[in-house]
Amino acid sequence: MPSEYDYVVVGAGIVGLAVANEIKSRRPAARVAVLEKEREPGQHASGRNSGVLHCGIYYASDTVKAQVCAKGGERMMKFAQEHSIPFKKSGKVILATSINDIPTVDRLLRNAAANGIHAYKIGSSELREIEPHAAHAEAAVYCPDTAVIDSRAVLERLCSLLKQQGVDFFWGCEALASFGSNQLNTSEGLFSFGFLFNCAGAYADTLAKKFGLARDLALIPFKGIYWKLSERSNHLVRSNIYPVPDVSLPFLGVHLTRVISGDVYVGPTAIPALGRENYGIFQGAHAGEAAGILGRLAGMYFRNSNNFRALAHAELAKYSKSNFLSAAQQLVPSLVDGDLVHTPKAGIRPQLVNVRTHSLEMDYIFEQTDSSIHVLNSISPAFTSSLAFAEMIVDRSNAV
Ligand SMILES: Cc1cc2nc3c(=O)[nH]c(=O)nc-3n(C[C@H](O)[C@H](O)[C@H](O)COP(=O)(O)OP(=O)(O)OC[C@H]3O[C@@H](n4cnc5c(N)ncnc54)[C@H](O)[C@@H]3O)c2cc1C
Repeated sequence: MPSEYDYVVVGAGIVGLAVANEIKSRRPAARVAVLEKEREPGQHASGRNSGVLHCGIYYASDTVKAQVCAKGGERMMKFAQEHSIPFKKSGKVILATSINDIPTVDRLLRNAAANGIHAYKIGSSELREIEPHAAHAEAAVYCPDTAVIDSRAVLERLCSLLKQQGVDFFWGCEALASFGSNQLNTSEGLFSFGFLFNCAGAYADTLAKKFGLARDLALIPFKGIYWKLSERSNHLVRSNIYPVPDVSLPFLGVHLTRVISGDVYVGPTAIPALGRENYGIFQGAHAGEAAGILGRLAGMYFRNSNNFRALAHAELAKYSKSNFLSAAQQLVPSLVDGDLVHTPKAGIRPQLVNVRTHSLEMDYIFEQTDSSIHVLNSISPAFTSSLAFAEMIVDRSNAV
């Protein structure tokens, strides 16, 4: 006998949980199932990120990211307050360490003005007050509304709230393929649904293809590895120190973040990876998947789309501790080799590439059938955005 639900949500990452929460807030009596291939939440991006609630300064006002980032961040802080989840509005500085960064600084400030985000240029004495050990900067921007949060605590709280509201969780249940327009074949049997929300993160494109969608999209995973500051050097960073990013890429560059536990993490990288779960050097890579990814990487490298060659060289070099340290020293020059301590923390960014234009997709993407919506390219800042993003996803589904 198939299991029957009004709504099936695939993926118990932050996006799937936020969508289930949004459905329940609109239709409390709806029968909702969340299917998750792992045995517990937070095994992938949502439990492996930097834990920063971004203010949204990076995104031009015509992007979906701009529409949901700042709003989502505010809602997440309110949620954290209501549910006693640790978070701290610690602010961040963005440093222009080269004169060449100035046009991007101006662009970020224009984004902030257009999106109603608090952000302003600060002089060197104000920078010294905020981050005494930050590098000398050609220009510096302060974003007071940036916060850090305990991401895993958010996932756990959402899971328990949803259970209390009668949502059924199926752990260890992998969505495999669509079966007709309203049935889903899974590792645990057949599910019937009125409407399906595909929030499968790094596998969302794979599942969407089973519904005949996402034909122009393919995945190139990027690995984010981190180091941590030693106890001796932990005081060198008070909150968040970021570089000016290359805005042609969906990555923010190696930064320093004082997370909610008080540790300071340095990273993450954006190293081209060999698989959706390739968290170690080779661990989590599978031959078939790796071959396809290598082919796409070679294509990007050959065409040099999104200035990919420079990215690949710079990021692969960060497997070496000394190169990683150099990136961190651009922001905090007094760091020395012994200040970086190994940490196993690593995440994968499920970055989609458009196979027709050969360029990296920069924004979130939705594709739909009459009975399903597929959330694609849910890269950073999807954690920050999630509560507002879920509202948008459910609105677009027109099904709740
Ligand atoms: C290194 C790193 C740092 C980041 N830092 C930040 C940050 O500071 N701030 C921020 O806002 N964002 C950050 N992000 C981005 C953010 O973490 C992600 O955008 C967000 O967590 C994506 O959530 P998700 O629910 O879409 O994906 P996931 O968290 O990956 O969840 C998807 C879930 O679907 C499950 N699944 C997959 N396939 C199937 C299937 N077939 N059947 C059933 N279940 C399935 C997976 O097991 C997984 O649990 C970072 C990301 C990385 C990698």
